[in-house]
This record gives sequence, structure tokens and C-alpha cells, in this order.
Amino acid sequence: MGKIFGTNGFRGVFGQELNLDIVYNLTLSVGTFFSGKEILVGCDTRNTSEIVSKVVFSALSDAGVSFYYSSIAPTPAHQYAVKFYGLDGGIVVTASHNPPEYNGIKLLGKNGDELPHSLEDIIEEIHFSKRFKLSELKTRCKGTLNAIEPYINAILHQVDASEISKRKYKVAVDAACGTASLCATKLLSELNVTGFYVNCQPDGYFPSRQPEPLRENLIEFSKFTEKVKADFSVAFDGDADRSIFIDNKGRVVWGDKSGAILSKHSIKKLGKCYVVTGVSASLLVERVVKDLGCEVIWTKVGSVIITEKINELVSKGYKAIGLEENGGFFYTPHQPTRDGCMSLALMLEALAYENKSLAELHDELPKLYMLKSKVEAKNVEREDVIKRLSEIYSGFRQDKIDGVRIWLNENEWFLVRPSGTEPIIRIFAESNSEERAKEILNKVIEEVKKLLAK
Ligand code: MG
Repeated sequence: MGKIFGTNGFRGVFGQELNLDIVYNLTLSVGTFFSGKEILVGCDTRNTSEIVSKVVFSALSDAGVSFYYSSIAPTPAHQYAVKFYGLDGGIVVTASHNPPEYNGIKLLGKNGDELPHSLEDIIEEIHFSKRFKLSELKTRCKGTLNAIEPYINAILHQVDASEISKRKYKVAVDAACGTASLCATKLLSELNVTGFYVNCQPDGYFPSRQPEPLRENLIEFSKFTEKVKADFSVAFDGDADRSIFIDNKGRVVWGDKSGAILSKHSIKKLGKCYVVTGVSASLLVERVVKDLGCEVIWTKVGSVIITEKINELVSKGYKAIGLEENGGFFYTPHQPTRDGCMSLALMLEALAYENKSLAELHDELPKLYMLKSKVEAKNVEREDVIKRLSEIYSGFRQDKIDGVRIWLNENEWFLVRPSGTEPIIRIFAESNSEERAKEILNKVIEEVKKLLAK
């Protein structure tokens, strides 16, 4: 059977891999899966999201599924809306952090969590075997639901708003012209924070920067942070489920570092809990979490898997939160899914409770340096390259949770794994010296390129 869903739903270049026929047929399969249920349809700011949403409407109508529309909002706001309005699931039209020419379909299950891969497999089976269930009775959209207001209220409910408000923080926000544009102003003004807003007007062409908050497209924003003397800055990805922070010294605090700071804060708030993260996260997470008497659970990379693991632990009576090195933080008391605005509110609370600047919290972390890169590779070549690399390093300790993580010694490792969303191989390297991390990364990039050329 073919594969249509990647790490995070179905994505492709609009008009190519993701054309309106595929969207219609795939949604018929989703509609067949949700037969007799009531779901939500929402989207991001992409210029093609409206037309894709209309095709999704048309297919759901033909499948006879009841649905509401939550319009343009952050993905975590659509997720929260599924739970808030008591719906059975949802479809979010978004390509998250991918370049502007992409779009995609993300599926939500009960409570708004990303649909587990096992259930996506059922939809794939319906799709490829064309077992669509068409309804004689056509449905139509039952109305528009506000996703943003209940979402912001829920976040405010999770933090000590009065303690944050007293501090009169100043925060710079770069929404990349994505959906965070629709929430950040309201959230910060409710917390008495002065905001400096950059790229906070929704624009589906993403004219100012790519929707992925990478180090290279945050250089200007780092300088801006220092210039306006902000307490910190936050840059969101296109659909606002990920947030990357910049400290008051203009240094980017990458996702595993901000995740470690937020984990530390969450553990102090919630008591003992598990921290679930993908194998691509830094060892510093484990070191910070262990110091607080808690344990890290390593999983395959991907937010769907982290959410599933958190839910499994919670169902057994444990507390669990999660993080991703790319800036996703899962604060389960709000929802067990990554959420950029929830992370922003928690970061403000961490600063207020600790009475420290973000630079101070950043400097307190163990000194480890993780660098990452990517090499283009066709999907068929990737597994073979990873297998051969594993053979070359057969004398070293290896984890094969996702791709291969090879330990050069206790403090140094590299990870080579196939991306779940793009035709690339992702490469990560970590060491307690930045020079060495660079050296390891460059060596592995060369090795991967050589293996691809063979
Ligand atoms: Mg995203």
C-alpha cells in the first residue's frame, strides 16, 4: 500500500503533489473515517489555504459528515477548539513551517490531539482502496466557531497572570506573517506585556522570512531584540505551534534549551513528571531533568509520537510533558500538544517566578553545543545511506530509535535520520565544545554526500 501521510499529515507543493483532486479524494477518505461524527475544519494564513479548505468542505459534504469552520487560527488553537466545543476531530489545512508554495492536511482526533499514525493508516487504506463512503444526504458547514478567544483564555488560565503582569515585561514577537499574528497581541496585552511586533500581519506569501524559524533567518531579529532592549524575543513558525526564543543578549535559545528551561519550570509547578522528547534533542535536556529527579523518555522524532507517548503515560496515572528541539513544547495541563503561545506564556511565568532574565536562565544550562544540517536525498536513497553509515561506525554504541544515533563518547554523538516532511536527510551533532560539534557535523555531511554519490 502507498504512503500519503508523513510525520505531520500530508504536505506537498500546491498544484503538484498537493492538487485539488488529491485533496478531494483524501478528504473523502477522512470523511469516511469520521462517518457519523462532527468535526472541525480550520486553516492557516497560506494564500492557498482558502481554496484547499473549500475543497475539503465539498468532500466532507459528499461524505455526509457534519462540520464546523474555525477559519484562520494557529494550529494549537484549532486543536483546543476541538476539545472546547466537544467535537470528534478535525482537519487543519496547513503546511506548518514549509515554504510558501506548500500546503497540507493535518488530521486531529478526539480532544484535538494529532491523529495517531495507526489511525492515519486506516485512512490511507480507505484512500488507496477507494473505499469512499458517499452519502445520499449532502451536509453543509454548520457554522463558524471562534477558535482564538477560548484558546487565549485557556492559556491565561494556565499561568499566574497577575505575577507576570506586575513585571511589565517587554517582548519582541516575529510571527513570520503566519497565524501567531492573530494571537500574540491579545495574549501579551492581557499579560501587561509591551510587545514589539515584527511580521505580525497575516500574509500567505510570507514576504519577510520563511515560515521556519531557523538561526539564519533570525539574525536581524536578534539585533532587533537588543536594539529595543526587550526582555526576550519569540519567533513563531507559520502555524504557531513552535516558538524559538532569543534572550535579552540577542542570543538564540534553541528549542531544546528553551524546552529545558520550560521543563524545569513545569516540573516545579506540577511536581514529578516524565519529559518526553525525540532522539534529536540535546543531552542537556536529560541532564537538567535528571537534576530535578525526573526522567526523560526518548522517542522517534515527531510531535504525533510525543503526544501519543504523553497520553499513554497520563492514562497510566503519570504526569508527563514533552518537547522538541525545533521549538515545540507540550504543556499537558493545557493540551498534550506543541503550542507556541502556551510556551510564550510559560516563559514569561518562568522569568517572573525565578526573578531572572532569560540570559541568566540560558547561562545556567549545561554547556553542550548541538548543530544541525540537512542534505538533499531522494526518499529511496535515504534508508540505504543510513544503513551504510551505521555499518561504517559498527564499533560505536548506536541507538536506532529513529535513523541512527551514533555515540562517539559520553558527550559526543551524531544523528542521521530521514525527514518525515521533505526529501532530505537531517544530520545533528553534539559535543561539549562548539568547535568539535562543527567538526563532527562537517565530517558526517561529507560522509553522507559520499555515500549518496556512490
Ligand atoms: Mg508548525
